[in-house]
Amino acid sequence: MQDMNRRDFMRLLGATGAVSGLTAMGIPTAVLAKASGKVIVVGGGFGGATCAQYLKRWGPDIDVTLVEREAKYVTCPFSNVVLAGDMTIDQITHSYDGLKAKGIKVVNDEVTGADVGAKKVTLKGGDTLSADMLVLSPGVKFIYGRVENDDKVEQSMPHAWKAGPQTALLRKQIMAMKDGGTVLILPPPKPFRCPPGPYERASLIANYLKNNKPKSKIIIVDSNESHSKQKAFHAAWQHVYGMGEGKMIQWVKETEGGKIEKLDPSTMTVTKEFGDEFKGDVINFIPYQKAAELVHSAGLTNKDGWCDVHQNTFESKVAKGVYVLGDACVAGAMPKSGHSANSQAKNCAAAIVTKLAGQEMPTPTYANTCYSLISPDFGISVAAVYGFKEGSIKKLASGVTPPYPKEKNRFYKNEAKYAKGWYKSITMDMFG
Ligand SMILES: Cc1cc2nc3c(=O)[nH]c(=O)nc-3n(C[C@H](O)[C@H](O)[C@H](O)COP(=O)(O)OP(=O)(O)OC[C@H]3O[C@@H](n4cnc5c(N)ncnc54)[C@H](O)[C@@H]3O)c2cc1C
Repeated sequence: MQDMNRRDFMRLLGATGAVSGLTAMGIPTAVLAKASGKVIVVGGGFGGATCAQYLKRWGPDIDVTLVEREAKYVTCPFSNVVLAGDMTIDQITHSYDGLKAKGIKVVNDEVTGADVGAKKVTLKGGDTLSADMLVLSPGVKFIYGRVENDDKVEQSMPHAWKAGPQTALLRKQIMAMKDGGTVLILPPPKPFRCPPGPYERASLIANYLKNNKPKSKIIIVDSNESHSKQKAFHAAWQHVYGMGEGKMIQWVKETEGGKIEKLDPSTMTVTKEFGDEFKGDVINFIPYQKAAELVHSAGLTNKDGWCDVHQNTFESKVAKGVYVLGDACVAGAMPKSGHSANSQAKNCAAAIVTKLAGQEMPTPTYANTCYSLISPDFGISVAAVYGFKEGSIKKLASGVTPPYPKEKNRFYKNEAKYAKGWYKSITMDMFG
């Protein structure tokens, strides 16, 4: 990995966006336009919606069908802002009309089974669809039985790790909490969707509490001993809210008492491995995660519950012509994020279009940026560029926001603005 100054890094990041485009891959669009065939994409989230869009953009004659179980997509990015009351669920809800207008067939149904050999999917509604290639980007599922009672607390200790009704429920509980109450946030062990997500959540709940219930506090009872953007988060917490025991945000790492062992919704208590107990007025338990059910039942997962793929094309290592991307796959050094899924989806679309056009897929490059809001006008971020080397995705260069107060206040304010710009442009890329 190479450390770079911000200007050089942003230049490289910009260049990566360009090499994700097929023209910069050195293949004329006229050649790609010859691509034809039938592709079914399952999952209309960050990976699937992007892949469907780019398949159609680069191969207008490709027959692209997107199957998605929900009528509309609610993004997890910015759902922490909804939780804190600064945006509404409607503002993070997107329709598939933009994809339909581009000639993508959107089927609102659930895939109940995939025959990866025959490239067929069976729908809950009774239909069977078949294609030349399948792209699966179904996200994650929660797995239970790792913590006592973890399967019984969805209503009493909402995860809000799938945006929608769970976000609304957790928000309602935070709103109803008395001033002086305690919110516990319980991140699962890595790997999980959105590594900085629990810590952004703590920040934005703290912002609500600071303005409305200033005697309250948040304890992050972690199942990890370190976390994403740790130095930047901790410095910002110290500055904006106060951090440590008795302050607004306290972080208890895994090595202080071990992993979480038991949840007791009747007493709202959390017990750690070596006996420490934490009581919360509101408890946000984020369950352990694995790739979504569909890829398990299709036989595409490894012993850890994720999908092994050829990391230059995202073609499954166990089923030819079947591609798995986004959170469900193992993507080398890339984190499980919406931006990663978007970047992988473009490379996967490129791999499919070049294959259907009888061309060689050039060596890909990928990018990820994860913004986190500490408050609505204080942001931090991590950005990285990745390449495909010796069979897997490796980090080539990265940059993290310098911990406060290494930069001027304006810098952190701008990061918050960029976060909002990022959201606008990536959702436009997916759904526009
Ligand atoms: C609180 C929170 C905050 C986050 N913030 C950020 C952020 O700021 N930046 C960022 O980059 N990432 C963020 N993420 C992570 C991001 O949401 C995920 O990494 C991203 O959604 C992964 O994309 P995906 O395509 O793999 O899965 P998803 O986006 O989850 O899409 C999967 C889709 O498949 C559908 N599906 C699943 N199974 C089936 C089936 N059998 N039949 C039909 N449809 C099916 C689902 O309904 C879903 O729409 C955040 C996550 C959380 C929880």
